[in-house]
Amino acid sequence: MSTHFACINGCKGEYRLDEVIYRCPHCNSLLAVVHDTDALKNKSGGQWRDTFDARYRGIGFPDNSGIWSKREWVLPELPVSDIISLEEGYTSLFSSPRLNKAFDTGEMYVKNCGNSHTGSFKDLGMTVLVSQLNSMIKNGSSVKAVAAASTGDTSAALAAYAAHAGIPAIILLPKDKVSIAQLIQPVANGAHVLALDTDFDGCMRIVQELTKDNEIYLANSMNSLRVEGQKTVGMEVIQQLRWKVPDWFVIPGGNLGNVSALAGGIEMMLELGLIDKRPRIAVAQTRKADPLYRSYQSGFETFEPVAAQKTLASAIQIGNPVSYEKAKRALKNFQGVVESVTEEELSNAAAMADTTGLLADPHTGVALAALQKLRSSGTIGGKESVVVISTANGLKFIDFKVQYHEKNLKEVLSAYPNPPIDLPNDVDAVREKVKDITRN
Ligand SMILES: *Cc1c(COP(=O)(O)O)cnc(C)c1O
Ligand SMILES: [Zn+2]
Repeated sequence: MSTHFACINGCKGEYRLDEVIYRCPHCNSLLAVVHDTDALKNKSGGQWRDTFDARYRGIGFPDNSGIWSKREWVLPELPVSDIISLEEGYTSLFSSPRLNKAFDTGEMYVKNCGNSHTGSFKDLGMTVLVSQLNSMIKNGSSVKAVAAASTGDTSAALAAYAAHAGIPAIILLPKDKVSIAQLIQPVANGAHVLALDTDFDGCMRIVQELTKDNEIYLANSMNSLRVEGQKTVGMEVIQQLRWKVPDWFVIPGGNLGNVSALAGGIEMMLELGLIDKRPRIAVAQTRKADPLYRSYQSGFETFEPVAAQKTLASAIQIGNPVSYEKAKRALKNFQGVVESVTEEELSNAAAMADTTGLLADPHTGVALAALQKLRSSGTIGGKESVVVISTANGLKFIDFKVQYHEKNLKEVLSAYPNPPIDLPNDVDAVREKVKDITRN
């Protein structure tokens, strides 16, 4: 059968991708997109590598998208003319000897998913979801609008892709809990922004109620179409490494769709023979919202949602992750570990990375701080290669940077503050200061 949805628990039933369905009608678990891998095996692993390399950073549509250049692995039956793309993907893989030194690693890379149209990895999944929805509407679907609960980046991505497609978007945000940059993106793109007096978990509950009505389509990562786009991130990293698999991926986790996606893409590469080594995966959480970490410590025997507390890493301030089951499986299949970090650890890790030329947002800070802890505990060896997934552009969180360097962040002792130096309009004073600088 062609690409379809099926229950992650293996219940009977296959559902078409143009059906409005997010959960298994039998057991209420999430669905996953299932591919016809036999059809994809028409090409060998080597032939797929060559195909993807030939298309890499192609100039014309759709090979100018990192997602749609891998379209047979994403939505093979979608007509190319229905694709809504903003040239997402193909983000840079940052590396430098100074970064290796700072984080005491043999070989380290930062995948800059934030160098994207709306500034976060959410673009990777949203292009797939909105393209599928665009196709459904063209074919007479009764869907009138698309909606998402968001900690900020999902709404920015949804608003941009929906605006491009001309589909009305409804955004449910926790009031006063997202950055100004994140709030203004959907506002500017013409989405209907509803700021609710609750937290993300509250918005998530309400949007699930709203989208029970088939006229409003759900764009949260509970909808596994998102995961299909996001799964290309690991594929793209490994391609950028000339098909060499790193020993580790470190990824920040909130609702846990992204880690599930990362694992899913790598699983497909293994199955179809593009690679033959399994990397390990580390999920990084903030101490203010670390239900996966707690579950990991119990050997995944138990899972308790937590009340997420305010954190600088606002996009992962999530206490009841919707993709917990998927993430647990991913971690079991990739010898996964979970680490949890404090506000101070994430802030200083981000600031240290910045001194090597990056501009790390707080969520990337969470991953970088987790890497530091896993290096000091020896879980990640000094000669192992590590890819850190940077999930957003630091420019979305400028307030975090400003306050860090002004030493104004709560619960944080800034280890690398570098505030601007005020000087008079006087050449001698400036010369004196410059002498100080070059002396040290
Ligand atoms: C959405 C988001 C995350 C968390 O991804 P999940 O799939 O919810 O685990 C991490 N960082 C940023 C910047 C995000 O926008
Ligand atoms: Zn089921």
